[in-house]
Amino acid sequence: MKLGEIRQQPRHLINGRWVSGATTGISINPSDTREVVAEFARADRNQTELAIAAAVDALPQWSLSTPQRRADALDLAGSELLARKEELGQLLAREEGKTLPEAIAEVARAGNIFKFFAGEALRIGGETLASVRPGVQVDITREPVGVVAVIAPWNFPFAIPAWKIAPALAYGNTVVFKPAELVPTCGWALAEILSRCGLPAGTFNLIMGSGREVGQTLVEHPRVNAVSFTGSVSTGRRILTATAARQAKVQLEMGGKNPLIVLADADLDQAVDCALQGSYFSTGQRCTASSRLIVEAPVHDAFVARLTQRLAALKVGHALTRGTEMGPVVDGAQLEQNLSYMAIGADEGAQHVFGGERLERETPGHYMSPALWLAEPGHRIAREEIFGPIACVLRADDYGHALELANDTPFGLCAGLCTTSLKHATHFRRHAQVGMTMVNLPTAGVDFHVPFGGRKDSSHGPREQGRYAAEFYTTVKTSYMLA
Ligand code: NAD
Repeated sequence: MKLGEIRQQPRHLINGRWVSGATTGISINPSDTREVVAEFARADRNQTELAIAAAVDALPQWSLSTPQRRADALDLAGSELLARKEELGQLLAREEGKTLPEAIAEVARAGNIFKFFAGEALRIGGETLASVRPGVQVDITREPVGVVAVIAPWNFPFAIPAWKIAPALAYGNTVVFKPAELVPTCGWALAEILSRCGLPAGTFNLIMGSGREVGQTLVEHPRVNAVSFTGSVSTGRRILTATAARQAKVQLEMGGKNPLIVLADADLDQAVDCALQGSYFSTGQRCTASSRLIVEAPVHDAFVARLTQRLAALKVGHALTRGTEMGPVVDGAQLEQNLSYMAIGADEGAQHVFGGERLERETPGHYMSPALWLAEPGHRIAREEIFGPIACVLRADDYGHALELANDTPFGLCAGLCTTSLKHATHFRRHAQVGMTMVNLPTAGVDFHVPFGGRKDSSHGPREQGRYAAEFYTTVKTSYMLA
């Protein structure tokens, strides 16, 4: 029977063996809350320490393994993910609630990431420089960092773990992976594939459970050399403090409140498409979602009217139903939070344009309609990350004002601009205070082979993905020798 169709009982993978939990938890299908997707193992501190010990023991062998061996393992994982993208996409849609096409695309992305880093394992380079002293040779090489803890959020349960685990293994590190508690089965399915790819026991370990117990043990443990985390700003800050105290390497990808500027000279249909996709697809549960739509005054009203029309036609429903364009919110707590922001918007005097109501569908699920507001820059709904299908429009006098509004945020992940002006596009790419810019494209939706990350409160540490991942997953050694 296929993965997506049965109730799973995911267990931890520790030192090459499948291990039951200290306790168990359940994951629920947000499109139909009657369905339990999995009853999964939850670890305590003790089991987490066993997983760390396994990764420590496996490190000498894996860190000295040949690039070919690492490439072969990653390539196998990538091929299997690609071959099974429909089946695993079903599982992802069931457990997290993104629509089936989005889920299949995410699994394919994870497969491509593994294949990319299979290639990178063969391209780990160094440098040889002439010394300033006679007869001395200087070599600069990259070595693995050691044991890497991968702590992932729920919103991309295949792609985000893939873009951390694949480079970690490619560069010779061993891994302890903790998925988010809402999506354990996706994490387990990825681990199950990796368990059959020729990795020595302990090289890759899966440990499921709470952030407070499992996550914190990983972050504070003296044998964990590096922590790669994606999640909320508050958790990220806690991890930064804990890792700084023991000088462990850390990489944090956190929230966003990403602007999409629409100038008066933009192709308005294209701009509305960018806003619709960027703000509402994946139910707005993307760190790269465009939650602030900054629109130049001459096209403000026309833009709002066209976007509202598109929202009214957007099909919200069960993630697995053909034709669904927006799935449910991931769980009840996130839905309540989204609805509370609707109340906050009303209280602070923002102008409600569309949606934001709880919806009933054939199956009981966490459904809500996409919401649009007209807001002022100081409103909380225009400043705080909501992480749901709620966007607000801010009116701008001109390009300069729009850019000022775009940069007026504690976040700095990505920013978009819709325009036909080369001058403004060029200026924007240089002056947007973010890690990624998009011109005439949605802010969400990025390539798998180039760096990903932001500035300000959105990110900390070296970039993820592409060959820039080497900065985090390797440490540089400078070797001198008298020839
Ligand atoms: P979260 O911070 O609650 O949890 C993320 C992970 O951290 C989970 O695995 C969780 O169990 C773990 N965790 C929680 N407390 C911990 C602790 N004290 N020590 C160690 N680990 C701990 O985030 P979430 O709700 O899963 O995800 C939503 C957030 O993720 C949003 O804010 C979103 O913007 C952000 N996000 C950012 C990016 C990015 O790349 N910038 C991508 C996706 C999601």
